[in-house]
Amino acid sequence: MSPKPLHPETLALHAGWRADPTTGSVAVPIHQTTSYQFRDTAHASALFALQEAGNIYTRIMNPTTDVLEQRVAALEGGVAALGLASGQAASAMALQNLASAGDNVVSSTALYGGTWNLFANTLRNQGIEVRFADPDDPESFQRATDARTRAYYAETLPNPRLEVFPIAEVAAIGRRHGVPLIMDNTAAPLLCRPLDHGAAIVVYSATKYLGGHGTSIGGLIVDGGKFDWEAAGERQPALNSPDPSYHGAVWTEAVKPMGPIAYILRARTVLLRDLGSAISPFNAFQILQGVETLPLRMPRHCQNAAAVAAWLAARPGVTRVIHPSQQSGEARARADRYLAGGHGGLLGFELAGGVEAGRRFIDGLKLFYHVANIGDVRSLAIHPASTTHSQLDAEAQLATGVSPGYVRLSVGLEHIDDIIADLDQALSAAGA
Ligand code: PLP
Repeated sequence: MSPKPLHPETLALHAGWRADPTTGSVAVPIHQTTSYQFRDTAHASALFALQEAGNIYTRIMNPTTDVLEQRVAALEGGVAALGLASGQAASAMALQNLASAGDNVVSSTALYGGTWNLFANTLRNQGIEVRFADPDDPESFQRATDARTRAYYAETLPNPRLEVFPIAEVAAIGRRHGVPLIMDNTAAPLLCRPLDHGAAIVVYSATKYLGGHGTSIGGLIVDGGKFDWEAAGERQPALNSPDPSYHGAVWTEAVKPMGPIAYILRARTVLLRDLGSAISPFNAFQILQGVETLPLRMPRHCQNAAAVAAWLAARPGVTRVIHPSQQSGEARARADRYLAGGHGGLLGFELAGGVEAGRRFIDGLKLFYHVANIGDVRSLAIHPASTTHSQLDAEAQLATGVSPGYVRLSVGLEHIDDIIADLDQALSAAGA
């Protein structure tokens, strides 16, 4: 009989680590080293040939980062993970691990702005075409797919609409074609495990809820270990054809004895080796500290955000409140199906007074921080019309589906009465 799986609260504290074998240290040590002494030349050869697991150089692996990787993989129900310097590095590498110049990827249009830029401009300039599909229409992913499509990509709970992506539906379409679904789960850790719904890979900006403290930038890619890369054959040449950068190895064959980790091992040993966007051991340690309390924090973020959403909905100067708890119909059905234990800590609202009201609201905040971040333990706010354009033009409004009076909140863990008091006085200052 296999042992009972541990709960997230327990995994967040224990997965990947049990007291240092030499020092007895209970806390995960920060292994602030660049390199690792090889026992002898035979040991060095075995490590470089991937015949033996072990540390070579911190650009590619590090024992502190390894604990973070194991812990997040365990929380996601994956088989292995790769820690990276940022969420951006994770999104880029998750795709570059499958797609080369001439290939394409189909992505949901509902994306974080930084990812949108990466996809619409930088990857395109490198020859990887990102085709955009409608998250409300899973079949649009199928229609955009051709022989050179290597992956699908979407966010679980994307800003600003905060409508949960139809993960199972799009993952099923992808599986029929040998195309994996990669999900950015940054906004919904613990609330949703995309791998349970058929996604193949999960990416994170660990900068947000995983860390929670707002001290450290980091990212992760988690391999679900269930996608059949070998059966995908020519659809996935990066994993099924000889890799000249690794002695002609075919990843799906070479890695088989180590388990279903061909995707994530290639990302580490080829892309991280060559592109070098490694996370520092110190940041990995910091994010690990955050992960330990994630199961306590997420429910409170959700609870506070739902309370703020209900309070804002009753405010006359607020014309629209965007939070899954306020949704109905198909969007609400998806939120209820995919999010467990709460609807997330992100929230948007629109002010009748437009751009000027948005500015006055932000300038009136005393407790909320005005920052370009989300997922901090502190409450955060931003008025995109003030930061992305002097005024949202008609096209940008259409693209995001929100008005110039739109404000985004990342609701923190302060007492709900203090959060609402700050919103109340700032709304009054904005004439709402
Ligand atoms: N994905 C989402 C959903 C994000 O919100 C962000 C950052 O805001 C990123 C990815 C990029 O992460 P990072 O800032 O850690 O590079």
